[in-house]
Order: sequence, then structure tokens, then C-alpha cells
Amino acid sequence: MPTIAMYPGSFDPVTNGHLDIIKRSSRMFDKVIVAVLVNSAKTPLFTVEERVAMLRESCNGLTVTFAKQKGATVMVRGLRAVTDFENEIQLAHTNFAMMPEIETVFLATAIKWSYLSSTIVREAAHYGQDVSRFVPRNVERALIAKREAGEL
Ligand code: ADP
Repeated sequence: MPTIAMYPGSFDPVTNGHLDIIKRSSRMFDKVIVAVLVNSAKTPLFTVEERVAMLRESCNGLTVTFAKQKGATVMVRGLRAVTDFENEIQLAHTNFAMMPEIETVFLATAIKWSYLSSTIVREAAHYGQDVSRFVPRNVERALIAKREAGEL
């Protein structure tokens, strides 16, 4: 039976750190569903549609399906510093309590991206900094457009 994993997140916007986790998890599982979530605790910069479109463009060539569908037996999350742990373990335990058939798997961040977050990227772009090292080109363009529109 194929193993289907789901990688959920806000991806506001997707960064090279996220893409690294998507690439590595897609080598481990038959299928990885990247689910773009609405986080009620966060006010997003990009709409869900914009975030999905940017992920689609930057995942070109990978077998990724963007759908919240049943059939996933694995939940993939990335772990950066200790600060991620508290929140992630709480999420994993809650998910396990609700859906024990789904296992949460943590991939340690690539050291190269360990400091990277969507928040830092949005902040840097807000001040007109070059973020081309941190995000795919389509996301860089989208951030510049948001800044020029005065929305960042
Ligand atoms: P959420 O709002 O669900 O935390 P994010 O888009 O910030 O959504 O992150 C989604 C997942 O990707 C989380 O598991 C997070 O820890 C992980 N992640 C974020 N940035 C990185 C990175 N630079 N390297 C590895 N994992 C990351």
C-alpha cells in the first residue's frame, strides 16, 4: 500500500526551508500532500489562493498534490530550533488524540535553512531587502509586488 504523507503549514510565503522539507519527504513517501492552512491565530500577507499558486509554481516537477484528502497516514512537520518543539509536540499530541492512525514525522531542518522563517522573509521584504537567497523566484516577485502595492 502506498504511504501518503501530508505536510501542513501556513506557507505565507513558501521559503527554501519549506521546499527542502517537501523535497526530502517526497523521497521518503510515495505521495506528499502539501496542505495550505488557514491559521486563525495569524493574519496572512498572502491569500490561500496566492500561497497555493506560489507552492505549485515552486514545486514544479515534484509529485505533490494540493488537497486535504483522506488516505494520508503520515503528517510531516519541520523542526528548526528548540523554540519550534513546544508548539510542534503539542500539535502532534493533539493530532494523535484525534487521529491515532496518522503518525507525525519530524524532519530536522537543513542547517542551511535553520534560521529561516516566513515571518523573517516578510519582514526583510518589507524593508526592501534582497530575499532572493531565501525564497524561490516567483515568491520573490510576489513579495516585491505586495511591497509596491503597499500591502507589505
Ligand atoms: P505553521 O503556521 O503551520 O507553523 P509554517 O508555514 O510557518 O506554518 O511552517 C510549516 C512547517 O514547516 C512547520 O512544521 C515548520 O516548523 C516548518 N518550517 C518552517 N520553516 C522551516 C525551515 N526553514 N526549515 C525547516 N522547516 C521549516
